[in-house]
Amino acid sequence: MNRSLVSAGISPTACCWLNGRPDRGGATPASSPTPRFALDPACKVFHYAQEIFEGLKAYKWADDRVALFRPGMNARRFNQSAERLCMPEIPEELFLAGIAQLVALERDWIPTAPGTSLYIRPAMIAVEPALGIKPSDHYYFYVILSPVGAYYATGFSPVGIMVEDLYVRAVPGGTGEAKTGGNYASSLKAGLEAKKTGFDQVLWLDGREQRYIDEVGAMNMFFVYGSTIVTAPLSGSILPGVTRDSVLKLAPTLGYQVEERPIDVNDLMADIKAGRVTEAFGSGTAAVITPVCRLCYKQETLQLSGGNVGEITQRLYDALTGIQTGKRYDPFGWVTFVG
Ligand SMILES: *Cc1c(COP(=O)(O)O)cnc(C)c1O
Repeated sequence: MNRSLVSAGISPTACCWLNGRPDRGGATPASSPTPRFALDPACKVFHYAQEIFEGLKAYKWADDRVALFRPGMNARRFNQSAERLCMPEIPEELFLAGIAQLVALERDWIPTAPGTSLYIRPAMIAVEPALGIKPSDHYYFYVILSPVGAYYATGFSPVGIMVEDLYVRAVPGGTGEAKTGGNYASSLKAGLEAKKTGFDQVLWLDGREQRYIDEVGAMNMFFVYGSTIVTAPLSGSILPGVTRDSVLKLAPTLGYQVEERPIDVNDLMADIKAGRVTEAFGSGTAAVITPVCRLCYKQETLQLSGGNVGEITQRLYDALTGIQTGKRYDPFGWVTFVG
């Protein structure tokens, strides 16, 4: 174990938790042991949410190699989140080598059916048992692995999204650009209310004016204007997604223009109505690209791309997942192999 980490108060707790075998039909309990740690109820993470995490995937290619997609971006973002939450940084080489070793060790659990992968969840929590409000002096860093099935079990299908006009997720200067649990705890209520009205996810507006598009739950949002793909800028209150960055770099190679600019929700609704916005989709590691076919704002619901998956959305999905799974040439050097 790295001595500087021990002196920074980080315990070497790497664990692997396998919760299913999608390659054997989904719900079979894993035979691999599930390590647990016993924690004092006073640990700071339980009271003050000093916690950060990451999310990435390992893909088993047809030639049996195991690929990670841009893991260096996750290592960097993890440390940016750590800095915001006053937690110690994990050296990038250690973060990456730890994941590579763990994934290599568990490579037989990586499912191979189309659309499946091994989800990797690094996390760090504050474990000092003390109720004083200050940064913890002791942390656990650990990595959970879980085989995941095809995100779109019944085919690549579009979702309906509710634009949230009451609750806010993040404000400039807040923790919106860090991947930290508190952002999610505060967003659960809006998510439940959106579900009750028949929508799958919530689209957050900026926390100051509630006027500009921020992002969806765990996805960055894109809107297609003809052949131009538009997304909100990294304003400080949205998560800088690895998939978002990949779409911005990949789209021009497919002949599309990309723009990062503030998107006023009123303009957006008018542009959808007028047919200027032809497609919308979200981007995130879990589903890669999620087509959006319905958008509701202040009781008004508009349909996008005729309720179907848009052509550009589909092309981007095919291109990105093609690179991740080795079916397409990777001109960016985004893929790295483990084991
Ligand atoms: C993780 C996450 C995303 C997506 O980021 P990727 O790196 O593309 O997976 C978007 N928004 C939020 C709030 C997130 O936590």
